[in-house]
Amino acid sequence: MSNKLIWFRNDLRTSDHQGLHQCATSKHPVIGIYCLDVKLFQANALGFRNSGQARLNFLIESIANLKSELQKLGSDLLIYQSPAHLAIPKVCNALSIDEVFWQELSGPEEETDARLVQTELKKTNIKVNTYWDSTLASLSQMPFSLEQLPDLFTTFKNRVEPNLSPALPLPKPSHLIGIPHQIPQADLPLNKDEIRENWYHLKGGEEEALLRLKAYTWESNAIQQYKVTRNGLIGKDYSSKLSPYLAIGCISARKVYAEIKEYERLVKSNDSTYWLIYELLWRDYFKWVLVKYGSKLFQINGLQNKPHPWNNDKATFEKWRSGNTGQPFIDANMRELLHTGFMSNRGRQNVASYLCKDLGINWLWGAAWFESQLIDYDPSSNYGNWAYQAGVGNDARNDRKFNPVKQAEQYDPNNDYVSFWLNQ
Ligand SMILES: Cc1cc2nc3c(=O)[nH]c(=O)nc-3n(C[C@H](O)[C@H](O)[C@H](O)COP(=O)(O)OP(=O)(O)OC[C@H]3O[C@@H](n4cnc5c(N)ncnc54)[C@H](O)[C@@H]3O)c2cc1C
Repeated sequence: MSNKLIWFRNDLRTSDHQGLHQCATSKHPVIGIYCLDVKLFQANALGFRNSGQARLNFLIESIANLKSELQKLGSDLLIYQSPAHLAIPKVCNALSIDEVFWQELSGPEEETDARLVQTELKKTNIKVNTYWDSTLASLSQMPFSLEQLPDLFTTFKNRVEPNLSPALPLPKPSHLIGIPHQIPQADLPLNKDEIRENWYHLKGGEEEALLRLKAYTWESNAIQQYKVTRNGLIGKDYSSKLSPYLAIGCISARKVYAEIKEYERLVKSNDSTYWLIYELLWRDYFKWVLVKYGSKLFQINGLQNKPHPWNNDKATFEKWRSGNTGQPFIDANMRELLHTGFMSNRGRQNVASYLCKDLGINWLWGAAWFESQLIDYDPSSNYGNWAYQAGVGNDARNDRKFNPVKQAEQYDPNNDYVSFWLNQ
């Protein structure tokens, strides 16, 4: 018998989990570890916390749910508030671990975290087992190499889509052999007073992710109207609201894909069911963009290395951030984000365009505010979309700018959305 450790990162689930599946089928004792990043609680150079309370709450609920799911299966999750390269070697030593599994992630900070863990484990005989697990298709399933990744999404989609065949989701293990332990762990910093329900009552965790997927498909059939409703601003069902779960891996993209395909087979297949898969391809695309370009995606000149005289005026940025620009549609969206940790895709495009193209403010500041607030924050989707809106990313139409007055007329014709948020 040899003991295995799974380092959970953005894969807070027990179903369709490569590492867990391997340990369960080989019947090796296994335990999980999660290292809560202290940077989340710290303020950034702009003066606000790297993670706002809504995002933190969602993450903490998800970690707590993973712990309880692992316990139900016979194992456990050890939780630390210290860097992985310090916590993992200690746990390995205490529990005689001989192999550590983890999901590869592509952001520069995430890669550094993994490299530091590797360096520590190299000093021992402990094996490392890593895998890529966060996209529909793997790199080897794509019709081009990473270097040849198209710089336009449409080219990517047209080449990937015809043979898209994601692996079937792996089943949830029916049982795990745990590792008895008495290791002291961190309490999750869930301060009840600070909990603010997100607007859509989205609660973190794998269980909730599966419920949300079921509700959007089989129960409400809202998926059948997705293509028509996806530009909505009010309510839970105008879009899937799966992004917070996908971002931290409470559910896999493959599982969502498989469920949509099953729904198409048994209930209905139309433009709308197709369009949700199309959006998942956007998600995949930005993941690969980050793998290809690495830290460039987080630099002011972006993927195109395009200098621009960005304005670094803090007062103007503060007005945007707090929803006080004086432009009602922009302010309504920014207040929704501030109060709930969520904003529709329509809103995100508008407020990003407004910050970059109307106010001319440093787009990295806007991206940092989203990073702090969004419960679905994902480095590749956030910085990929921001760079796109700022005209320094993967955009064929660099000079495109949203007109918030016209957008409000089209998407909020009765002023319901704006008046709701401006009167809060
Ligand atoms: C400036 C800006 C920043 C953004 N930041 C993020 C972010 O940090 N995290 C994030 O998940 N999405 C981000 N998006 C993309 C998009 O707005 C959200 O994915 C979507 O609004 C989430 O709601 P939903 O799950 O109901 O999406 P749905 O419309 O139901 O779409 C289903 C899924 O497809 C994926 N998806 C949809 N649109 C996009 C897109 N444009 N780019 C990448 N994936 C997409 C998401 O995983 C989403 O959950 C951003 C968009 C903009 C314009």
